Amino acid sequence: MLPAQEFDLLLGTLAKAGYELVGPTLRHGVIGLGVIERAEDLPKGVADEHAPGNYRVRSDGSPGWFGYVVGQESWKRYLFPPEQTLFRAERDEHVVRFAGETPETRRRALLGVRGCDVAAIAKQARVFDAYDPGSSAYGAALAQTFVVAIDCSHPAATCFCTSMGSGPAADEGFDLALTEIASDTEHYFVLRTGSASGRRIAEKLTLEPATRLHREAASAVSGRAVELIERGLDKQAAKRLHADHPEHPRWETIGDRCLSCGNCTMVCPTCFCSRREDTITIDGTSAEQRLVWDSCFNRDFSLAGGIVRESIASRYRQWMTHKLSTWHEQFGESGCVGCGRCITWCPAGIDITQELAAMAGDRGAPP
Ligand code: SF4
Ligand code: SF4
Repeated sequence: MLPAQEFDLLLGTLAKAGYELVGPTLRHGVIGLGVIERAEDLPKGVADEHAPGNYRVRSDGSPGWFGYVVGQESWKRYLFPPEQTLFRAERDEHVVRFAGETPETRRRALLGVRGCDVAAIAKQARVFDAYDPGSSAYGAALAQTFVVAIDCSHPAATCFCTSMGSGPAADEGFDLALTEIASDTEHYFVLRTGSASGRRIAEKLTLEPATRLHREAASAVSGRAVELIERGLDKQAAKRLHADHPEHPRWETIGDRCLSCGNCTMVCPTCFCSRREDTITIDGTSAEQRLVWDSCFNRDFSLAGGIVRESIASRYRQWMTHKLSTWHEQFGESGCVGCGRCITWCPAGIDITQELAAMAGDRGAPP
């Protein structure tokens, strides 16, 4: 058990071990991610409200430091950067010289990773490893990363991690995991270790033995979070979506609402598409190729002699059937962890769980 007043010791120990600390920060009214140095930098006493196409952070004066869930940013930017230079070329009069860029592999501790995002990190690792076994840039970055998970205590109305088996508490894929117990009279974290690196850091902390009462309080936090999650997704119907409903009229209805803005893919912690962009200076003496995040909602995505998916309905169908259905064929599991970001950050309020329910014939689904 880690008393809250010892939390800075955890951060200091990680910093001393050479990790840059990244954690939740409150910026422009949104829970974002950024470099932190001490507990003081965390957004304290705030809660977040989520609904389709809606997000709000409010101050609730609660004594906890982690009483919100996920903002629009996911941790993937630290393992799969939105933009990276692959190589540069310089030309003088007679010679062109190419120089490859080595991907950044900074030691980083990610602090406050929710169960759904821990699962998303593992999913992306499997994707990149499938394409580049044993030597992906993602794998190299992950090997330098220390994950401190935090169990959710106040899930949002858009969360459905329980359906996807990824939360609200993380059960693997972390180095340390914390459950926060916060009230007017006590504030502490029940700590679990998940790796040898986690155990080495834990040994350096001023921990008190977790009593039966501490453990019961921690399990009550997770139990209450499970009860608060109202949204769900039928995993079996999701898996069959591509085979069962390739021509469902609902795709056109969604296509009429969808703006093809790509927000859902940018905020999704498991989306992994990218494109290569070549740029050249105006005098033609130097050029570079960059890898940047792409989205299957972009009109020229997968451009191969012509537009592959002209209609917005076909782009949404591609995204949703891949995420929920054909991901199983490619990687042996679902591509969704139930974080709810695509629901919250869709300006049209399109809700993947409700669209699936409607296509699967669920009577409670919206018309
Ligand atoms: S599809 Fe939506 S709910 Fe599922 S992981 Fe991506 S953003 Fe989260
Ligand atoms: S589903 Fe929503 S977030 Fe995704 S592309 Fe369409 S309008 Fe944008």
